[in-house]
Amino acid sequence: MTDSCLFCRIVRGEIPSPLVGESENAIAIRDISPQAPAHFLVMPKIHVQSLAQVRDSALLGELLMLANRVAEEHWLADSGFRVVVNTGENGGQTVQHLHLHVLGGRAMRWPPG
Ligand code: 5GP
Ligand code: ZN
Repeated sequence: MTDSCLFCRIVRGEIPSPLVGESENAIAIRDISPQAPAHFLVMPKIHVQSLAQVRDSALLGELLMLANRVAEEHWLADSGFRVVVNTGENGGQTVQHLHLHVLGGRAMRWPPG
């Protein structure tokens, strides 16, 4: 499972992807296909398929805090930003390793598509 998981491979450094942030159990990288001037992905170092599979509230808190730190370090805190967790098929999740999108640098629309 994790051998073929794209984000597990990024966590292990097998696919080069500069880190923009790291905490004990999570990393943050730039999205390869940014949907906003700033677009980061925050993910756990261990393989967790999606938000629906999470049982560890401390891990979820750590992911949100890293998202917050990355947003702050990229000057998004004052202007605002959006955190999105696409979950499962209807949620539009395409990579089956839990990740938070952190989007900023432009005004977001609502409702999302
Ligand atoms: P999802 O659709 O699962 O919510 O988000 C997956 C995200 O991963 C997409 O925004 C996509 O652009 C990004 N992505 C896919 N492959 C790679 C990759 O190899 N490197 C990076 N940095 N992002 C990727
Ligand atoms: Zn994985």
